[in-house]
Parts: sequence; C-alpha cells; structure tokens
Amino acid sequence: QKFVYDFTEGNRDLKDLLGGKGANLAEMTNLGLPVPPGFTITTEACKTYLDSGDEPKELRDEVSAHLDALERTMGKKLGQADDPLLVSVRSGAKFSMPGMMDTVLNIGLSDKSVKGLAAQSGDERFAWDSYRRLIQMFGKTVLDVDGDLFEEALEAAKKAKKVTVDTDLDAAELKKLVTKFKKIVKAEAGRDFPQDPREQMDLAIKAVFDSWNGDRAKLYRRQERIPHDLGTAVNICSMVFGNLGPDSGTGVAFTRDPASGHQGVYGDYLQNAQGEDVVAGIRNTVPLAELESIDKKSYDQLMEIMETLETHYKDLCDIEFTIERGQLWMLQTRVGKRTAGAAFRIATQLVDQGLIDEAEALQRVNGAQLAQLMFPRFDETTSVDTIGRGIAASPGAAVGKAVFDSYTAIKWSRSGEKVILIRRETNPDDLDGMIAAEGILTSRGGKTSHAAVVARGMGKTCVCGAEDLEVDTKQRRMTAPGGLVVEEGDVVSIDGSSGKVYLGEVPVVPSPVVEYFEGRMHAGADDADELVAAVHRIMAYADRVRRLRVRANADNAEDALRARRFGAQGIGLCRTEHMFLGERREMVEKLILADTDNERETALEQLLPLQKKDFVELFEAMDGLPVTVRLLDPPLHEFLPDITELSVRVALAESRQDANENDLRLLQAVHRLHEQNPMLGLRGVRLGLVIPGLFTMQVRAIAEAAAERKKANGDPRAEIMIPLVGTVQELELVRDDAEQVLAEVQKETGVDLKLALGTMIELPRAALTAGQIAEAAEFFSFGTNDLTQTVWGFSRDDVEASFFTAYLEKGIFGVSPFETIDKDGVGKLVRDAVEAGRATRPDLKLGVCGEHGGDPESVHFFHEVGLDYVSCSPFRIPVARLEAGRASA
Ligand code: ADP
Ligand code: MG
Ligand code: MG
Repeated sequence: QKFVYDFTEGNRDLKDLLGGKGANLAEMTNLGLPVPPGFTITTEACKTYLDSGDEPKELRDEVSAHLDALERTMGKKLGQADDPLLVSVRSGAKFSMPGMMDTVLNIGLSDKSVKGLAAQSGDERFAWDSYRRLIQMFGKTVLDVDGDLFEEALEAAKKAKKVTVDTDLDAAELKKLVTKFKKIVKAEAGRDFPQDPREQMDLAIKAVFDSWNGDRAKLYRRQERIPHDLGTAVNICSMVFGNLGPDSGTGVAFTRDPASGHQGVYGDYLQNAQGEDVVAGIRNTVPLAELESIDKKSYDQLMEIMETLETHYKDLCDIEFTIERGQLWMLQTRVGKRTAGAAFRIATQLVDQGLIDEAEALQRVNGAQLAQLMFPRFDETTSVDTIGRGIAASPGAAVGKAVFDSYTAIKWSRSGEKVILIRRETNPDDLDGMIAAEGILTSRGGKTSHAAVVARGMGKTCVCGAEDLEVDTKQRRMTAPGGLVVEEGDVVSIDGSSGKVYLGEVPVVPSPVVEYFEGRMHAGADDADELVAAVHRIMAYADRVRRLRVRANADNAEDALRARRFGAQGIGLCRTEHMFLGERREMVEKLILADTDNERETALEQLLPLQKKDFVELFEAMDGLPVTVRLLDPPLHEFLPDITELSVRVALAESRQDANENDLRLLQAVHRLHEQNPMLGLRGVRLGLVIPGLFTMQVRAIAEAAAERKKANGDPRAEIMIPLVGTVQELELVRDDAEQVLAEVQKETGVDLKLALGTMIELPRAALTAGQIAEAAEFFSFGTNDLTQTVWGFSRDDVEASFFTAYLEKGIFGVSPFETIDKDGVGKLVRDAVEAGRATRPDLKLGVCGEHGGDPESVHFFHEVGLDYVSCSPFRIPVARLEAGRASA
C-alpha cells in the first residue's frame, strides 16, 4: 500500500484517497498549470493513524523519500539555513469541511533559516513576516494555543506604531513580534516553538490527522451527513509568497458568478499578502478586474487558466492563486458552490456552450434547489436593514409581530394577528405556539435543534441559532448588536432561506418560478425570466426522460387544477374526509348516532348527493387523467365534538337541568368511540366493514359522478382505493359490495363503468402479504406515512416534537424517516411488496402517496424499486418531476 502520492501521480478521480484538494492539485499539475510542487499523504494513512493511534510505519520513510525528491526539484532543503525550502501543510478531506482545521504555512522557518530567507529574498521584512505567521498558525492549530493571544499581540504592535494594517510594520517590529509570539507559545503550550523543520512538519501532519476527530469536525459531519470513517488527506506544498511586496499578492476567483451564473471576472485580490488574508478581511481587497492594471501579464494568464479549468471541469470552478514577484501560481481549485438559481442557469449555459449534454445538465441541479426557488421571497429592492443572522433552518419568508412565548403566540394569532415566535430555543411545550406562528426565530441551536426539526416538519419558516440576538423571554424583548431593542409587538421579518432577520415589514413577492408554473409568466429577457427560461428547459429535459409518472394529492377541483398546471398526470390520493366536514358534520353525527337502519340510511342518503357533486367537479378538473379516490379513512371521533368540551357542556346543562337529548347521545357516542390509540383503532377499511352502507354510499357517489361526466362527454378515470387493509379478506368483502354497487349504477344509468379497485399498502401485514392482496387489488398505493409509523412503532404527531432532535443529534438517523424514506426498513417492505404484488398480477399498477412522494431522495428510491408513479402535494410536483427525470437520466 502506497501512502504518499506526488502531485504528478494523482488525478481528480482520486478524491477518496487524496481528498478534494489533493486530487485537484494533482489534476491541475497534470494539466500543465503552474502548481507549486508537492505531495499528498492519503486518507488511508490518516485512517490507520486514527485506528491504531500510530502512523503506519511505512509512512515516515515514504514522506522522507518524497521530501527528498521535492528538495531535489527545488534545489534546496527544508529549512536549510542559508536558503530554506518552505512548505505548507494543508488538510483536505473528500468533502470540504470548513472550520475543521486551518492550514499551516511557512513550515521550515526557524531562528536560523529566517535569516537565510531574508538574504535570499533581499527582503528582511518579508522573512520576519513569514516567520511570525508560522509561529502564529503553528501555535494555534498544532499546539492548541488560543489564537486571540497572537491577534492581541499583533494589535498591540500596530497600536504602538500607530498604524492600522500589518503591512505597515517593519522588519524590526516583526522581529520583536516573533520574540513575543515565541514567549506566548512557551507559556501556553509549555514547550518551545520547535526549531527542527522536520519536527515542525511531522507535528503539523499529525495535527491534521487529529483534527478529523475534533468536536467541530464531528459536529459538522453529523449535520452534513458525511461519514465519520473517511479520514482526511494531508497536502505538503512548497511555498510561494504573495507577501514579497507590491508585485506580489494573493486572491480568490470564480470562473463565473456563483450568484447569477453569468460569465465574467469575479473574485478578490490583495497585494502583498499571504494565504487567508484575502478572505479574513484584515485589509481591503480589490475586485479581481483591477489586477489587469496591476499586473497585466499575470491577469491574462489567469484568465486563460480559468478558461482551461472551465472547459476541463465543464463546470463553474473556484480557485485560489498567488502571485510571487510577477509569477502566477495556482494553489487550489474545485467545482464551486452556487446559489439555487445559478445552478439552473449554469446548467443550461453549459449545454449551450456544448460542454455538457441534457442528461448531465439534469445532474447539475436538484429538487431541493428547485423547492428553494419556489418559496415566496422578500423583495430585495426594498431597503430594510438586517438586525441579525442565524442558520437558515426551514425556508420561506415570514413577517409578523414579535412574541416571546407560545401562549401569546396562540392568543394573538387567534385574534387574527400574524406573529413570529421568538425563543432562545424551543421545546415540546412550544408546539402549539409554533403552529400558531408564521415563523420561528431562535438564538440558539443548529440545524438539528428542536425548532429546526419541527419547523421543517411543519413546512414553517425558521431561522435558528441567531447568536447575535439576545433573547430575553422574561422581559419579552430581544436585543440586537448595537443595542437595538425589539419589543413584543414590533414587526419583524425572517428569511428562512438566507437566515437573515429584519426589523420591520419586508414586502414579500411571489417566486417567479411559481408564477411560471402557474402560467402567469413566460420566458423573456429580464433577470427573473432568464431563471424561468432555465427552469423551463431543465423541466423539459426531465419530463422527456423520466419513467415515473407524477400525480397529485388533491381533494378538490381547485387543488386539482393547480396540480395540473404544475404538471400532475392525475390524482394519486383524493382524501374524502374533507367532504364530511363543515355543515356536513351534522349528517355524519346522525350517521354515527343512528340506532336503526332507517336512521342510518336517511343520513347516508343525505350525504350521497353532496359527495357526488364533489366528485363530478373533481373528475371534470382532471378530465382524461386518473383520479384515485380513497374511501373514508380517519377514526370517527374526529367528526365528533371534543370529549372534554362536550363533557363540560353536558355537565353545565345538567346542572341547569336542561341537558338536551342529542348532546347526551353524542356524549355517549364519544365515550363509546374514544380510543387510546386512534391511529391503530377503528379507521380505514374497518369503518367500511362495521358501518353498513358507508363505503357503498361512497362507491355509489363515485360511480354516479363518473356516469354523469361520461354522459356530458367527459373522460372520467376514477379509481377506488381502500385504506388500511391488513389482509386480503377485508379487501374481498369490500370489493364484493363495491362491485355490486357498480353493476347497479351501470344498469341505472346505462353507462359502461370500468373503475379500478385497489388498496393502500400502509400496514406491515399488508406489505408482507402483498402477494395475496394483489389477488383482489388492481393497484397498490403505498401509504408510506402510516407505513413508517407502523414499521417503526412511533406516532408522527408525537415523536417529531419529543425525541427526534435527540435521535438526530446522536446520529441514529441523519434525517427524519417521515421526510426521507427509511430504505433499509420501510423501503425493504415496499421493495418486497412490489415484487410479490407483480408476481401475482403482472399488470398491477403501483404508486406511492405518502409525503415521501415529493421528497427528492425518496423519489430516486421509488424509481429504483420500479413504481409507476409518485403522488405528492401540488407544490411538490415540479420537484418530483425533476427528481424523477434525474433518476432516469
Ligand atoms: P483552506 O482549505 O482553508 O482553504 P488551504 O490549505 O487552501 O486551506 O490554505 C489556506 C490558505 O493558504 C489559502 O489561501 C491558500 O491559498 C494558502 N496556501 C496554502 N498553501 C500555500 C503555499 N504552498 N503557498 C502559498 N500559499 C499557500
Ligand atoms: Mg483553500
Ligand atoms: Mg394512511
């Protein structure tokens, strides 16, 4: 096994082994770009070190051999007294992990070699500046000295000289600073700053290895779902110097604008500076375009290199470079991060440039980005100042009055006010307040905090961990940096996509992408339309290649029409329970309270025409497309008054001795129907089997509606779906009744009705006996919400707010199984049921109608297991179409 690779030996496909930085340094080297020579220690070496607590024994020799070679190439030895070779020791994992470990520059400098460097460069100031930087970085990252101590000493030196920037310190002052820094190291680390260059290098390498298991790194990996066992590579790179005077400098650049995707010159440059100076904001950088007038030759070369990189990587790249006395060096490149809008634009631009094809363009965007583009947003043209910024935990733009407790949130929202619930952090007691609020803002906690998890589950805007904002719930106020106070009742605006918090009302504008899907906007020339045009093209690619069809979960004509505009190819789940609410509730009560067949039939007869009318409208809206109607599913008590409220009402009435007969009967019924676990109680197909006439009434309403539409020359495609089936016997009983009703309606109306009858697969038993159930079902629709609840044995309504945050933090799951399908458990049942169902009935139609139908990762899974369609809420349809396309491409 080889643990060390020269930059000339690697390439960009070796990211697992060489880390992202190392692989790309090698790639650039092999492209003939000016990369300072160096080598990379593999992630395997790191893993061995972390597993055994010791470096692999071959490592030291391999490093020595590569260092020898490097010294020969450079014509000088590491730390050589009269002319030292200096190197940087840089961490670099497969995925970039900001904040994990800083790089150490200028390794090889010592009390002796600093003089050699001064003599060789003819610049004493430069040599001492490099040395103080080494001690500072080494002290902080390798020896764990508090970095502020160095910063304070540097500040003090500047103050003493009455200057504001580090470049105004001269050689003598920097030399004094070095002495000071060495004292800090000795005092804090209990050892001298090492003078032996190889010892410096070896300690730095070990520090990089160790940083993989630092707290920050672990936390970051958990949040970003990066596996803990990858390890980091270490890059040893010979130093080039941007701090050699005004003809030197360092900069960062993008090959195109990561915000808009436009081609052009984007980046920052800083003269006479090293490493991180350019992003650390210690001095003012200049726009990259100004480099042209500072150093035309390097600028032209840089432009040429950026062109080469874009054509080579076929994507937007970001780069780090340094100019040493007019000589340009490339220090890093990678495919750059970009905004959601830019991702769509860049993908289509690259297609137009002939760099990528349509299938590749689909891989350059994703459903999460599309979803982000569909949220309403704050109008950026209005100028309202931000008062703080936190973590963008759940997207959206929310405006409301600040409240600092859930009670007030509920009270105010009941009286019609929009509120933003502001807490230091939330806990399960805040749930009602969170539901009542437009948005949630917390000053503590990260992406897996209670507020973040619950808000995402509810689809509610949330900014969390805005640490600049001091929340005082007792005083009902929040203090922003600078002392600005936000009192209860003041209007605040929060942006869950950027994490920004504003005082006052920021106007909200609809997303142009939604305007486009709604048919209210078309491709044109201004900025928003450019995005729309890109989305339009990408969606067309996706639709062309996808195998999965996409349907909507919709219960009424209005939603159905919107779903159609968004591209739905039918309705996968029409819940009929809403048709039992409102003024119809009374009829349902009568149905439940009916003592005699006669009473029951009367109640059902009243409901029939109302149901039928709903279906006629729905079939008309979805004319020509399938509409899966689910028969009544929820437990009956949901249609009855709340048990406590009713008990109180009856008790009060009784004390006045005027209790009414109906209330008394209702209360009895409520008691009779009360269940400890309604989710596992009398619901779904069980209702159909114990309440005579209920399901047949619904089937009749569907059939009559279909017949009416046909007579009106429509093309209704109704499908009847039985919920919560656990065994084929249940289905057979319902099926017999339903077929009889269909035959009756056919006879009465003279219309030929062929309606498919199928079932939901949402109980483990149904999935396990899918082969039998398929005998009686023409289609399956996987109800993955209930299936997740029953497979895991937890109730969604309770657990997300109680222990999910703990589970996420402990890494038991990376994401809620209600958000993304649990492939190993729930997914396995789906996979097996698909196979068993198709074995029984090869033309069995298969779909999914849980929340997962609109979740990007889950859509890929459903594609892979061979479902025919996914069904999701109307707003998720574009996301599902896109992801279905990406899964096929
Ligand atoms: P990060 O991953 O945090 O960007 P890097 O390893 O890229 O860390 O290095 C930090 C800074 O030091 C960057 O600005 C980089 O360009 C600079 N740097 C790293 N190695 C060298 C080198 N050999 N010569 C000059 N500058 C370097
Ligand atoms: Mg870097
Ligand atoms: Mg269900």
